[in-house]
Amino acid sequence: MCGCPNLYVDKDFPQEIGCAVIITGAALAIALARPTYGLSFAAMIVLDALLYRIVPSRTVCYACSAEHRGFPPNPRHRPHDLLIAGKYADPPALKP
Ligand SMILES: [Zn+2]
Repeated sequence: MCGCPNLYVDKDFPQEIGCAVIITGAALAIALARPTYGLSFAAMIVLDALLYRIVPSRTVCYACSAEHRGFPPNPRHRPHDLLIAGKYADPPALKP
C-alpha cells in the first residue's frame, strides 16, 4: 500500500490473549504436574502447537504497519526481523 518492499509474516492473534494463554497454561501445568506425573506440561505443549496451527497468519508492512489478511503465503515474506525493523524505526531524539 505504501510502496515499502519489506513485509513480514506473523500470527494474527492478539498479544494480550497469547500472554494470558501462556500464563494460564503454565499455572495449570505446574498445578497439575504432581497428579499427572508431569504429563500436564506435554499437554500444554500439544495445546500450544494446536493453537499455533489453527491461528491464521497475516502479512505486516515494516514501514506503515498495514496488515494484509486472506492472501496465499508468499515465501519471500519471512518472520519479523529486528534489523529490518530498525531501518524504519524513528531515530531517538537528540538531547539539546
Ligand atoms: Zn506500508
